[in-house]
Amino acid sequence: MDYPDRYEVIVIGGGHAGTEAALAAARSGSRTLLLTHNIETLGQMSCNPAMGGIGKSHLIKEIDALGGAMAEATDEAGIQFRILNARKGPAVRATRAQADRVLYKAAIRRRLETQPNLTIFQQAAGDLIVEGDTVRGVITETGIRFHSDTVVLCTGTFLGGVIHIGLDNSRGGRAGDPPSNALSSRLRELPFRVDRLKTGTPPRLDAKSIDFSRLEEQPGDTPTPVMSYMGEREWHPRQVSCHIAHTNETTHEIILANLDRSPMYSGTIEGVGPRYCPSIEDKVHRFADKSSHQIFVEPEGLETHELYPNGISTSLPFDIQLQVVRSIDGLEQAHITRPGYAIEYDFFDPRDLHHSLETRFIHNLYFAGQINGTTGYEEAGAQGLLAGVNAARRARGEAAWTPRRDEAYLGVLVDDLITLGTQEPYRMFTSRAEYRLLLREDNADLRLTETGRELGLVDDARWMAFDGKREAIEREQARLERTWIQPGTAAAGVIEKKTGKALSREYNLLDLLKRPELEYRDLASLDDEVDVDATVAEQVQIQAKYKGYIDRQQEEIDKLKRHEATPLPADLDYDRVDGLSNEIRQKLQAAQPETLGQASRISGVTPAAVSILLVHLKKRR
Ligand code: FAD
Repeated sequence: MDYPDRYEVIVIGGGHAGTEAALAAARSGSRTLLLTHNIETLGQMSCNPAMGGIGKSHLIKEIDALGGAMAEATDEAGIQFRILNARKGPAVRATRAQADRVLYKAAIRRRLETQPNLTIFQQAAGDLIVEGDTVRGVITETGIRFHSDTVVLCTGTFLGGVIHIGLDNSRGGRAGDPPSNALSSRLRELPFRVDRLKTGTPPRLDAKSIDFSRLEEQPGDTPTPVMSYMGEREWHPRQVSCHIAHTNETTHEIILANLDRSPMYSGTIEGVGPRYCPSIEDKVHRFADKSSHQIFVEPEGLETHELYPNGISTSLPFDIQLQVVRSIDGLEQAHITRPGYAIEYDFFDPRDLHHSLETRFIHNLYFAGQINGTTGYEEAGAQGLLAGVNAARRARGEAAWTPRRDEAYLGVLVDDLITLGTQEPYRMFTSRAEYRLLLREDNADLRLTETGRELGLVDDARWMAFDGKREAIEREQARLERTWIQPGTAAAGVIEKKTGKALSREYNLLDLLKRPELEYRDLASLDDEVDVDATVAEQVQIQAKYKGYIDRQQEEIDKLKRHEATPLPADLDYDRVDGLSNEIRQKLQAAQPETLGQASRISGVTPAAVSILLVHLKKRR
């Protein structure tokens, strides 16, 4: 049958990409349908019940700054919060939260069900309605035809999914869920480049069978960090600890003796796995000199005894999984509640996409999430938001929004995928961003909320809170700049005590804040009247202390922008460009970029190398 209502956007798949895509499309004002296998699994965390971490929290906070759901849901579901790299610079600081899976799903589902313009329908999509080279809707596996202007495909690991436990394998999208075979076959008929990747998950354990006295306790941070710019500590449920265990030589011997029963080593699995999240058999094989690996034993939730042993993802047979687990100190009596497994699935070469995430071959069709070769909830959610808002904009005849690499990790993620493709599951790291001092997790709102408001993604409450914060930062910076400290005064005494140096002349507080020995709170304490919110104080401090570096990165960006379209002659011999490393020479030679902008986006081509090219071009003239 033809469904009577017509949609502007249909999103297929209610995982992390699909939920952010559907919410973004609907928030921006488009009539949206979210079509998913099972309403009960909306927002399901397929693997680790954790959000954020290095590079990933940057993406969550960008989603949040654009009005998305992930960070707020994490605040409602987070049972342990920590700041990673707390003692390092602000560019690499990252918030990580352990989540209660049930609470997380509930938080996402509530947002979906209460979102105006959004309708949810439970059924598998089996086919796309394609007329010429444009998508016109979706046909479900029972034959219901939904018509729409645009379609966003967010099917995760489900396309052609095959689950492996030892040498046994079966078809599945994730344990307990069916694969999407009809849709997978249909997409393989379209002119996209398709390949296989794989990922894995560890066995889950029953907490009642673990001897926690033998494990190291790892509590969350106090005060408890918050993930969303709108979030409050009061939203958090009860907080709990994680624990740390270790593999040992016996564990490694068991694994090595049974590698021939691992589908990865016996050749049954063809897909490439995530380099940065390897299985335990991979770790033991590749790092043979290490006699122990850490395992973070993480609770799956507040109302369950199940534990997630982070670090022993495996596809070894169940009997070996049990031996491996029971060889570990504190886990000798462990009961496995669910076996670990690996999953192989189809992904589509992201080089066949535009920066808007629309496919190059089929107009109005967008891909987001794991289907594009990424791994991780945050990477999926960020792409979903972008694809959702762009699908909605296309339906309304508006231009796509494509954030640049210097604006957002979202820009880095999409640009990396579209320019370079990926040969292994792609995950975000701060090292992937050349302007990471500008793209911090603490300033995602300052970078993106105004854009989000223009795109119709940011509601009034968030906008007012943001505007208030921005004004408060400016006000406080102005106050610091006009407050002068004279040598010989009581205030100068406080500062001299902190720095151990006498003030040689008068200074304003903003300049004093740049000194490494002084913190914002030292200067705020000079005036009893000052009452500034902690997030405002953090911003004022970071912007003052890193001003020199931030300004330098901004100058580089401005310079590159001016030269983005500068042509690189086809006969340019990179061997004759002085100062380039051999690696960069080879990359440029192979890619033959047409403009400096394109050259700057080749992985490994640094801003310094682009400056060298610029100088070389000037000399040639
Ligand atoms: P998913 O979260 O997989 O969601 C896909 C959704 O689409 C599901 O709701 C599904 O029901 C629906 N769907 C699929 N086909 C159809 C259809 N035809 N019709 C209707 N609905 C459909 N990430 C990490 O960062 N670290 C890890 O260690 C890690 N390990 C993983 C281990 C396993 C076993 C799995 C399965 C995933 C793992 N991931 C890991 C990846 C992480 O779960 C994904 O990156 C993330 O969930 C991707 O989000 P997504 O929205 O693209 O897809």
